[in-house]
Amino acid sequence: MKVFCNSCHDIMSCEVKETEMSKEIKGKVIYYKGKKSFCSECKEEVFVETLLDYNLEQLDNAYRDAQNLIKKNQIQDILDKYDIGKRPLSQLLGWGELTLSRYLEGALPTKQYSDTLLEILQNTEHMDKLLESNKQNITDRAYSKCKLAISNLREPEVSIIRNYSKIDTATKYLISNLTDVTPLALQKLLYYSQGFFIAFNDKFLFENDCEAWIHGPVYKEVYYDYKDFRYNPIENTMEYDCKDLILESKEKEVLDSIIKHFGCYSGKILEKMTHCEMPWIETRKDIDDNEPSNKVIQKTLINNYFTDVKAKFNMLNLVDINDYSKDLFNKLF
Ligand SMILES: [Zn+2]
Repeated sequence: MKVFCNSCHDIMSCEVKETEMSKEIKGKVIYYKGKKSFCSECKEEVFVETLLDYNLEQLDNAYRDAQNLIKKNQIQDILDKYDIGKRPLSQLLGWGELTLSRYLEGALPTKQYSDTLLEILQNTEHMDKLLESNKQNITDRAYSKCKLAISNLREPEVSIIRNYSKIDTATKYLISNLTDVTPLALQKLLYYSQGFFIAFNDKFLFENDCEAWIHGPVYKEVYYDYKDFRYNPIENTMEYDCKDLILESKEKEVLDSIIKHFGCYSGKILEKMTHCEMPWIETRKDIDDNEPSNKVIQKTLINNYFTDVKAKFNMLNLVDINDYSKDLFNKLF
C-alpha cells in the first residue's frame, strides 16, 4: 500500500500495525485493538482512510462488548438464520418498521431492544413463539419463509433418526440398552429378535437377510458398521437419544425381551446357541465347519424354526422366551 507521507513529502509505501487503542465514551474508557500505518521510510504515522473505518468498527464492537449490546453482524445473523427481512422482523417485534434498518446502519440499540434481539438470536423456540403470536403483523409469505427456516433449524437431530433403517434402529436400541455388547453378541441378538418377532407377529422385524458364517448368523451391513470393535464391547457414541429411536411398541417389546432373556449371555455362548439351531445347521449342511460362507439363511427357515419353537414351548407371550433360552443354555454344558 502507498500513501502520502507528510514528513517525506512524497507518496511512500507504508506498514500496517495492530495497536492498542482507547477512547472515552460517556465517561467510560473503551479499549480496543485498532490498526495504524507507518511510513516505511521515516517510520512516522501516515493517514489511511480505510483504517479509520476499520478502527471505528473495532471501537463500536468493543463498546458493545463492554455494554453487552448486540453487534451489527449478529443482527444480520438473525435475519439470515430465520430467513426474514429487517422490516418484517421489526413488525414482528412491534417496533417501528425502520428500526432494524437503522441498527444495521450502525445506530446503537437500547439495552432493552438489544436484549430482545440477543434472545431471539440464541433461542429458536423463543423466535417461534414470537412468530406465532405476532404473525398477523407480517405477510403470509414472510411468515411461511420464517416458519420453514425454523423447522429446518430443528430438523437435523430428528432427521438422522428418521433415516435409520429398521435394522439400524433395532441395533441402536440393543446397544443403548445393554452394557458390554460385543459385535459377535450383537449379531446373535439381532437374529433372535428377528426370529421371535416373526414367531409372535407373523411378520419380520426387518427385511435384511443374515448369512451363515462360521461363528453363526451375521447381518453383514451391521457387521461392517461395528467390526472395528472386534472382540470388545461396542462403545455407545450416544449421537442419538434412545427414546427418540422410532420403534413400534410391538417391536420394542420383542427387543426388550431378547435383551432380558439373551442379553445376559456372552457372544461365544450365543454363538454356540445358534450352532444348535436348525436354520444355521441347515444352511451350512454342505459346508465344512471352518469354511467361510456367505450363504443366506433363508427367512422361511427362520420363520419355520421360531414358529415351531413358540409352539413347542407353549409360548403365550414374550416372557416365555425365557424357557427357550434357559433350555438352550443347559444343552450347551
Ligand atoms: Zn515518511
